[in-house]
Amino acid sequence: MDNKIFYEKFDWASFKYEALKPKVEKVISSIPDDVNSILDVGCGNGIITNVLGKNYDVTAVDRSEEALSFVETNKINSSADNIPLEDKSFDMVFSSELLEHLPDEVLVGTIEEIKRLSKKYIFITVPNAENPDKLLIKCPKCNYIYNSPNHLRSFNIKKLKSLFPNYKLLDSFTFGKKVRYYNPLLLNLKKKLTPANSWIPYFWVEKAKRNTTCPKCENEFENKYKFNPITTAIDTLNVIISPKKDYWLFAIFEINNK
Ligand SMILES: [Zn+2]
Repeated sequence: MDNKIFYEKFDWASFKYEALKPKVEKVISSIPDDVNSILDVGCGNGIITNVLGKNYDVTAVDRSEEALSFVETNKINSSADNIPLEDKSFDMVFSSELLEHLPDEVLVGTIEEIKRLSKKYIFITVPNAENPDKLLIKCPKCNYIYNSPNHLRSFNIKKLKSLFPNYKLLDSFTFGKKVRYYNPLLLNLKKKLTPANSWIPYFWVEKAKRNTTCPKCENEFENKYKFNPITTAIDTLNVIISPKKDYWLFAIFEINNK
């Protein structure tokens, strides 16, 4: 499935620096001292990229032209699994909130490109052990069910490490606002027992974020909410049994030259 339309139609302007400031500062303070050049793979609208660009020699890659229009550094419109640059062009390859969006075959190619282009370091951030099923939407036209920010997979540190077997893990930590995990069994129950229009999570209150484009049939629609007591009961039970976790997982790898 090609999700290109999803990212072109995505409301990139809705991602603002102020909301991500603590994360951007954490990224900057975590970069190893001997880094001068950075490749930012899947830079989105450049909230982090543009700040990095003030202190580093930065090149940014994204497949969305709309997203790149916000980016102020060197930039390349390219899919992350086929980047037209020379091997080992950058001290560090950075990728933030990209890997969870990639289908299997693109993920494999992207990891290869990240390794190929890095001279020394690889810096990855992803949602921390997220359960992507918790933000499901059903397209009213084709009935396709998808995660609203189009997250297709979830990572913990073990899984991230497995992607870079020949690298040394220099540092890893979780960071950011605490968000509640959704128990997979309860989520399955919710999917079976309740209508999709009751699935908008209770914390998802901004109307603008309810506008979405189906990645399958390209239908643009407003995901309308309708109260359902069973959904609310299951959500409440989840609040009781599921812990909250830091939202992000950061990992910095160093190439093993031995
Ligand atoms: Zn659809």
